[in-house]
Amino acid sequence: MLKGKTALVTGSTSGIGLGIATALAKQGANIILNGFGDAAPAKAQIARQGVKYGYHNADLSDPQQIAAMFDYAQAEFGDVDILVNNAGIQHVAPVDEFPLDKWNAIIAINLSAVFHTSRLAIPAMKANGWGRIINIASVHGLVASKEKSAYVAAKHGVVGLTKTTALELARTGVTCNALCPGWVLTPLVQQQIDARIAKGQSPEAARDGLLGEKQPSGEFVTPEQLGALACFLCSDAAAQVRGAAWNMDGGWVAQ
Ligand code: NAD
Repeated sequence: MLKGKTALVTGSTSGIGLGIATALAKQGANIILNGFGDAAPAKAQIARQGVKYGYHNADLSDPQQIAAMFDYAQAEFGDVDILVNNAGIQHVAPVDEFPLDKWNAIIAINLSAVFHTSRLAIPAMKANGWGRIINIASVHGLVASKEKSAYVAAKHGVVGLTKTTALELARTGVTCNALCPGWVLTPLVQQQIDARIAKGQSPEAARDGLLGEKQPSGEFVTPEQLGALACFLCSDAAAQVRGAAWNMDGGWVAQ
């Protein structure tokens, strides 16, 4: 379905980003990976799908490094057809104790980077008459939780930016939508389970407590499920899905 398209997936060395990159590769898209840590396992996973792939280590908190990543993409792959803004970080603390450096980093990576990648990707998508921008927001783009002020502010910002981008592109073949996952068991969430274990909870109690407080299904969403939704948004059937904030959250936001 996506043969000949190029997808840039930020933060795709692990977790949801790698799940979405793998799903897009299974549909035939060429993949540009990005993110920190050891990229070798992610590269090997995409290589197994038999598509062309590359990797750029841009730190998304730096607009110049984002521009360098697009220069790399253009030189090695041509235009970016599918942009998945997925990279994100979390920090948990009350507003009046929130460290300034953590606030600035979360806004830069989780929100401003989405603006920078979008502004760089849109001209070619418009010129080509086709494009897909998929922003990985969160249920925290729709509702709040305490002690996550920067994350909730950034993700609400991503949902707003998604709507504006979709409206500006409404008369083109370029769509922009947000996915709003509930709990997905990735390194980002494992940190929060580990914090509960450190406070004396058993691993089972920590997992069940985390899920039970928010996610009525009592089950994690999976990167594979989010990958399938991303593939649908890339399909012709989704051409009129524009500016949506689509929650996949085990019922979290229905409460
Ligand atoms: P993760 O920690 O597994 O992956 C995050 C990715 O972002 C990694 O590849 C990491 O290297 C990359 N990254 C972090 N800082 C970066 C930077 N400055 N520059 C470039 N790359 C950077 O986390 P995840 O759970 O897979 O999260 C992915 C996205 O999904 C995030 O935007 C997160 O907010 C969102 N999300 C996650 C959940 C969940 O339950 N896990 C729920 C809702 C939304």
